[in-house]
Amino acid sequence: MDLTQLTAHELSDLLASREAGAVELVKAFFARIDQVEEDVKAFNIFTRDRALEQASKVDDKLARGEELGPLEGIPMAFKDNMCTKGVPTTCSSKILKSFVPPYSATVVEQLAQAGSIMLGKLNMDEFAMGSSTENSAFAKTCNPWDLERVPGGSSGGAVASVSADEVAFALGSDTGGSIRQPAAFCGVVGLKPTYGYVSRFGLIAFASSLDQIGPLTKDVTDCALVMNAIAGHDPKDSTSAPVDKPDFTKSLINDVKGLRIGIPREYFGAGIDPEVDKVIRQAITKLEELGAVVEECSMPHTEYAMPTYYLIAPAECSSNLARYDGVSYGYRAPESGDIVSMFKKSRAEGFGPEVKRRIMLGTYALSSGYYDAYYLKALKVRTLIKQDFDQAFEKFDILLSPTAPTPAFKFGEKSANPLAMYLSDICTVPVNLAGIPAISIPCGFAGGLPVGLHLMGKAFDEGTLLRVSYTFEQNTEFHKVKPSLGVK
Ligand code: GLN
Repeated sequence: MDLTQLTAHELSDLLASREAGAVELVKAFFARIDQVEEDVKAFNIFTRDRALEQASKVDDKLARGEELGPLEGIPMAFKDNMCTKGVPTTCSSKILKSFVPPYSATVVEQLAQAGSIMLGKLNMDEFAMGSSTENSAFAKTCNPWDLERVPGGSSGGAVASVSADEVAFALGSDTGGSIRQPAAFCGVVGLKPTYGYVSRFGLIAFASSLDQIGPLTKDVTDCALVMNAIAGHDPKDSTSAPVDKPDFTKSLINDVKGLRIGIPREYFGAGIDPEVDKVIRQAITKLEELGAVVEECSMPHTEYAMPTYYLIAPAECSSNLARYDGVSYGYRAPESGDIVSMFKKSRAEGFGPEVKRRIMLGTYALSSGYYDAYYLKALKVRTLIKQDFDQAFEKFDILLSPTAPTPAFKFGEKSANPLAMYLSDICTVPVNLAGIPAISIPCGFAGGLPVGLHLMGKAFDEGTLLRVSYTFEQNTEFHKVKPSLGVK
């Protein structure tokens, strides 16, 4: 049996029945990493010694006959924008290359509490800005399904590590689609929770009103288990919602009879690959056969989501990234003369081109004279987009679309054209603007590449998303197909 191919809950069963030990698991995953990482390049850094040390403590517990929690002893990794005390956290940026946080993000603490074992930190687009992970200052992560293609982004390393069986699960972050779009490209399950459900404390900010951390897993059951560990109120995050968290595994119900699913026609517009369209229509038919009631609907403000996002996200990023000035932490340009030239040179040398583009867009949109015309207008349109969702959810329990209009594209295909790159998030961006939850699950293949089914739900109703996803998964085989990479 290849341990690395199993889900977290299957591994947990093996630990519970003493058929495997935690050190054995960590060693198995590092053996897999040694085998495929040269091709995949998902990681920025490994924490091998630490992982083995933690695992041996779990084995001690097992030896004492103690029971383990559901994620205890399970190998995983974090996107490199979540602070890990004593372990470099770089955002895949030259400006944070040598940053070692003095504290851990709440999610990192929560998973440590749960006993999960961190194997390392995962590559991403610099500061989470991008859709292909090509904007990393360090490496190009490859899609395990086709090494000539991007894994998606910005959580490309996180998704590729799960898809290539280098970890059992990972945490990513999603500002406009960065969990869901790469999950679709690499054939894994990715959930962007409701804004405020998972703490952002210790997540290095890109656009604070849109950012949200979520699970990347091999199946829907694991997604629920990880949500059980990371959701909930955090007094350290002022935007954290003061709500009680349910047991998400209670939503793993194989039944969608009578559930109302809306299909917003604007999400199937120009630019959608015909094969992707076909696969999504087949998924809709499957859900209908399983008893869901499906109806087309309209979300009239969808066409304004991209321009709205590309005003709000850069505006917030220009403010959040002002702190990287070469003074408190991060890169400082050597011999840069007076303090103003030091700021300028440190930022000019430390940030990559996409980050600079966003900072310029954002400062322009926020500048006096343009604030009302751009930023304030974008906030108003954001409200209209949110109202589209409110109206749709009066009639439907969930909404369904493709996660991305195309399957994974080739390296370089879109990097010279920022607008073409931005459009790969056309189905995912409105969700962040509205603050609602959405999940991408594997639903088929187009030209041999995975396609993601995108389900959007009401705020704090992750339960219904999990239920529909679980039902789909239980009645299909797509999540079981693995990339041929490094077949043993
Ligand atoms: N691709 C989008 C962007 O570049 C979304 C990124 C994200 O969700 N972090 O902004």
